[in-house]
Amino acid sequence: MTAMPDVVPAAARAHTEDLGAFVSASPSSYHAAEEVARRAEAAGFARLDETAAWDVVPGGRYVVVRDGSAIAFALPPAAGATTPFTVLGTHTDSTGFKLKPKPTTGRDGWVQAGVEVYGGPLLNSWLDREVELAGRLVTADGVEHLVRTGPIARIPQLAIHLDRSANEGLTLDKQRHTQPVVGLGDVSEADVLAELAAAAGDGVQAADVLGYDIVLAETQPPRAFGIGNALWASPRLDNQLSTHAAIAALLDVAPDDLTGIGVVAAFDHEEIGSGSRSGAAGPFLEDVLRRVSAGLGASEDERARAFAASLCVSSDVGHAVHPNYPERHDPANHPHAGGGPILKINANQRYATDAHGAARWQAACAAAGVPSQEFVSNNTVPCGSTTGPITATRLGIRVVDVGAAILSMHSARELTAVVDPWYLSRAMRAVLAG
Ligand code: ZN
Repeated sequence: MTAMPDVVPAAARAHTEDLGAFVSASPSSYHAAEEVARRAEAAGFARLDETAAWDVVPGGRYVVVRDGSAIAFALPPAAGATTPFTVLGTHTDSTGFKLKPKPTTGRDGWVQAGVEVYGGPLLNSWLDREVELAGRLVTADGVEHLVRTGPIARIPQLAIHLDRSANEGLTLDKQRHTQPVVGLGDVSEADVLAELAAAAGDGVQAADVLGYDIVLAETQPPRAFGIGNALWASPRLDNQLSTHAAIAALLDVAPDDLTGIGVVAAFDHEEIGSGSRSGAAGPFLEDVLRRVSAGLGASEDERARAFAASLCVSSDVGHAVHPNYPERHDPANHPHAGGGPILKINANQRYATDAHGAARWQAACAAAGVPSQEFVSNNTVPCGSTTGPITATRLGIRVVDVGAAILSMHSARELTAVVDPWYLSRAMRAVLAG
């Protein structure tokens, strides 16, 4: 027998390798928002400052960052007061751990970092990995510094000799069992904050740091593996996979080909309910869309007409059928890895998809030549939710919930098919280009 040849299209492999670069550049939501802006600016988008006046003109392309969220948008040359918006909604944050105040702890010769659980991570997946500290520091001069330390911490699992029942059912206390080790020595002489200040460069000292938002981030690079290298392992696929697919789609559409005002809205704080000034439940997207409408000279009536004709494709990762747990899915709807993007449907509006939104998405997939499949929950296994219903409720815009099928959601290292991020991005592009 010979090894199976590479059956993944070259364009799909290139897309997902680029996703790997995006993920590697984005250990925190702040880095992810900045990476969206960096890519947009490199493609000619103008960076906007929320505290300054905006001069938004037809044919223009812009990007704005608010904390860990980014919104990029492109106007067709013929954009006017009632031109609808086509929004690709995603999120930049991932579940895990956040650094606590008084971050340097430890005992018995170990220096540790004090961390708080962020969202709903699979705690066991974070054990025995070398992780980094990453996020932002704010110094006394008010300047924000993006920082990352490289591998510096590890949450060590207890040896099986000291817990013979570990394989019958591992129970982790969220406080006692999750504090990573970062070094050896006397805790009173160690300073986690000094490591972060050093990572900021520019001579920043720990004493200069008056505030921080710092997370733990997996450091093992994303990679293809498996027969034919058809599988893709990576941290933060939830939901940098969608954020990367969306910005790649927007950057790939020429302004002349946009059917509406194309928007990528990548929100922070989805994993903790979206309730923040930069989250989907906050006003960021509405603020931006209203400022764009105002820039186009729209009256309130014309702005409302534009919103009424708009569409948001809300993309987040979903569950492929796990071969070891197929019974967790609906018996008739079995999304397969490699089977194309999933359309998410829920009777209780945990996903915002309705008949019109579903039809728009299916038409986009067909136009892009991309296979599509549906996700709906088994009635005894309720699904999670996304920013989709929040955006629909917040703005009254029609929303359709979609995503890419993965395994191990909320693990420190998730799994998808190499081809699926590319399929998703191609379908998104078709939504933007009509
Ligand atoms: Zn998500």
